[in-house]
Amino acid sequence: LIPILLHQFLYRARTPKTLPTFLILGPSGSGKTSLFTQLERGTPSPTHISQVPATATATLPPSITTESNRYRSTEDPTLLAQRRITLIDTPGHGKLRHHALSRLSAPPASKTKSATVPSFPHALVFVVDAARLAPGSDSLAEAAAYLHDVLLALQRRHARARTSRGPGTVPVLVAANKMDLFTAAPAKVVARALEDEVGRVRESRAKGLLDSGGGGEGGRAEEDEDAGWLGEGGEGRFEFRQMEEVDVLVEVVGGNVLGGGGPDVQAWWEWIGRQL
Ligand code: GDP
Repeated sequence: LIPILLHQFLYRARTPKTLPTFLILGPSGSGKTSLFTQLERGTPSPTHISQVPATATATLPPSITTESNRYRSTEDPTLLAQRRITLIDTPGHGKLRHHALSRLSAPPASKTKSATVPSFPHALVFVVDAARLAPGSDSLAEAAAYLHDVLLALQRRHARARTSRGPGTVPVLVAANKMDLFTAAPAKVVARALEDEVGRVRESRAKGLLDSGGGGEGGRAEEDEDAGWLGEGGEGRFEFRQMEEVDVLVEVVGGNVLGGGGPDVQAWWEWIGRQL
């Protein structure tokens, strides 16, 4: 009996009270809901247009090791709880982005008493359609404007932190989806295209030429709230690396949820594992 009780005690002690939350965001049609259901169930389900965020629990596939348990067997039952994550799928439509953006200024889960109050996520998965990021296209402009606002929200959060150590590192995966399509650009090209366009957005915003990014009812106050230069000062090219200064680590990784023959979701699972 004692070994059993001890085992249960250890299991409870190691079971985190709140699972790490991965917030899925990005423009409409990029494949967020497909990815959400794929990670949750192992198969993408026919998607619907969602107006409110959806939440689910997902378990890392056995092939994936987490960063904190690199040297332990995935068979170890006490580790099972640590292999579970919460996924939140958010709507991508411009008017509904506040669902995702409001979480980026929320307090962390450890400081939020109620489970129903949104808390700051553990990591972000920003999904883009890699087949629709041609230079000069509206879809690239839309994706970059949203990404700019997300990164700026994270930068502002870092600036507001009271401790000199900052609020902690925020990992951001840019999931370059639909790699099964021959029109999809490779991850490196996607990264460059997004960096260039985010750079253009920050210049336009600095000149006050754009409104606050198509989101919300956007009055003056909101525009002021969104003001600020993304990344380091200077007029040079914007690079995701500049976000490291504010502890935001952006990685662009290709994959596909649907369609055979592509790299599938394995590399994204591996990225998730590295954040645990
Ligand atoms: P959301 O609006 O971002 O939630 O996007 P959805 O998940 O609804 O997907 C938008 C469309 O892209 C749907 O028609 C999906 O079937 C399609 N889609 C999603 N992922 C992939 C993919 O990896 N490859 C291809 N070819 N199509 C995809």
